[in-house]
Amino acid sequence: MFIDLDRFKHINDSLGHDVGDGLLQEVAGRLSNNLRASDTVARIGGDEFVILLSHADEPEAYAALAQKLMTALAEPMRIAGHAIQVGASVGIACFPEDGAGVVALMKHADAAMYAAKSAGRGTYRFFQAAMTEKAEQRLRLEMELRRAAKNGELKLFYQPRVALVGGTVVGLEALVRWRHPQHGLVLPADFIPLAEETGIIGELGDWVLEEACRQSRDWRLRGLATRIAVNVSAKQLQSGNLAERIAELARQYGTAPADLEIELTESVIMANPEQVSGTFAELRRQGVSVAVDDFGTGYSSLAYLRRLPLDVLKIDRSFVSNADRDEGDGEIVRTIVALGQALGLSVVAEGVETESQAAFLRACGCPAGQGYLYSRPQPAAAIEDWLRAQPGMDNPGAMKCVTA
Ligand code: C2E
Ligand code: CA
Ligand code: CA
Repeated sequence: MFIDLDRFKHINDSLGHDVGDGLLQEVAGRLSNNLRASDTVARIGGDEFVILLSHADEPEAYAALAQKLMTALAEPMRIAGHAIQVGASVGIACFPEDGAGVVALMKHADAAMYAAKSAGRGTYRFFQAAMTEKAEQRLRLEMELRRAAKNGELKLFYQPRVALVGGTVVGLEALVRWRHPQHGLVLPADFIPLAEETGIIGELGDWVLEEACRQSRDWRLRGLATRIAVNVSAKQLQSGNLAERIAELARQYGTAPADLEIELTESVIMANPEQVSGTFAELRRQGVSVAVDDFGTGYSSLAYLRRLPLDVLKIDRSFVSNADRDEGDGEIVRTIVALGQALGLSVVAEGVETESQAAFLRACGCPAGQGYLYSRPQPAAAIEDWLRAQPGMDNPGAMKCVTA
């Protein structure tokens, strides 16, 4: 059995390594207490434990044991004055069906554990042949993704942000795409999570920032003044030098910092408000604005929302899509707009698809929107044509992107 603790890294990072060590000891004790003397428990790395069961049994017995172990681990622990609760994911491989030797059994129990984790944590899985295939696919994708930036396979698409009254373009959001040599255009949902798990996001995110800076400068030189909003992931923020890096890129490409905006999701911001606060202040000092993405889906502290240096709230698409038909969602949208106004923040509604949604948003006083109603995300050249085709845009030099 391969056992991996859920969210151990988070505990280690937030409460410190002493608490992490204490937790691992407690876990080891609980595992041993629930096994027979003839079984072996080993910690093989970080928060990974392997159990060797030497009595051949029916699969049901293994399943019951996995459940028992998970229940034992889920009991709250008291470590150095902290009440801590961890879950675990368990993968099971059986001899001899799933492997004749140590290497194969370990690899397959690991694949099963990984499947348990993807199934939503706090659960167990038996190994199935299809799992290694999936693991291999993932590994292949990881290798390809590592090369994607170097091979010029990444592209930025842009989606306009539009003033709901008057229809002026108030900015663009950069959305990354991967032109995979075999699979064609891959959407971020299919590679950003993998990039985050594997750390590739550092390099990928940096490429996105650099390309946005380059594009912004290029457009400005050709008379298109635009503000480009770039999505930034938690890992990039934690790297600690995001503000410096942006300043450096802006200098290198001659990009006006006021032409740049950073989008971070509400959950990433609220997971570490004290830490992000310094970075945001530094970004704004440089003239870069900061947007809260997917607002309404996380747990915002209003105190932090008021204190954090922010510029924009982006109402999550899930509320916008039914706002004109569902009273509850409509009320949420109205409240977020009012909240934004009260805090002096600009508000952008995401995922506006119909004229009826736009009308509802206008009635709420929401200043800006973004969505298929105006334009899908498009490659730079296509969005440029789109921008120039906007009413009042026949003189490209006249185009002005005001703040959303
Ligand atoms: P997001 O930041 O919330 O971006 C908005 C997503 O909604 C985009 O999906 C966009 O294409 C889609 N969208 C816009 N208008 C509409 C609409 O009217 N209807 C519908 N149904 N969808 C609409 P996309 O491009 O697939 O990006 C998905 C997510 O991937 C983004 O969500 C963002 O979290 C992430 N992402 C994209 N580019 C980057 C990047 O460069 N770096 C990082 N870290 N994440 C990125
Ligand atoms: Ca976004
Ligand atoms: Ca969003």
